[in-house]
Amino acid sequence: MPDIRSPSFAIASSTVSCWKCKEITPVISLFLPVEFEAYESDREEDCTFADDEEYQSWLDQDHPEMWQPRTRTAMLFYIETLIHETCEALADYKHYFLDYSQTSEDCYYMNHCHHCGMIQGDFFLHNEADAAFNPQYKESISKLSLSIIDQPISVTGSYNDSLDIFEYWDITIPSLCKPATTKTSTS
Ligand SMILES: [Zn+2]
Repeated sequence: MPDIRSPSFAIASSTVSCWKCKEITPVISLFLPVEFEAYESDREEDCTFADDEEYQSWLDQDHPEMWQPRTRTAMLFYIETLIHETCEALADYKHYFLDYSQTSEDCYYMNHCHHCGMIQGDFFLHNEADAAFNPQYKESISKLSLSIIDQPISVTGSYNDSLDIFEYWDITIPSLCKPATTKTSTS
């Protein structure tokens, strides 16, 4: 079940040196540039159910009160499910697909090196100090670019909304945005 949703999102692009072959390779992540909502599953503990059947029927229903608005922007990682429309928006990023991680012993959408095909895991890209999608210096942030995708997104995954990188460096999201790539047809 999705646990993060937003009326729009952005594809964040950067480059890293592949930990395996050391070549420079492009990587992407999904960024929520606006207020989004997170499903607070721990609130389920406040509910009591007579039996499994009642619990299942509760799960099958929509629970608007469980969706909590978040007031910050966020970077997504460890994404396990994406809706079809988002997969279509990511179709050009062929190095980003669902794969198995031995580190986290789970499947999630991850980047792969353009040169050797090796997984560039989300821990490496999101959790390490000054990582590609956890930038702490202005120079690192300048490597990031965002393509805003003006369509709703709904994912199962994790998010980091403690970055505040844009407020901290007084960088506006539009200044990071690149124009949408237009496909030119060859005659
Ligand atoms: Zn490589």
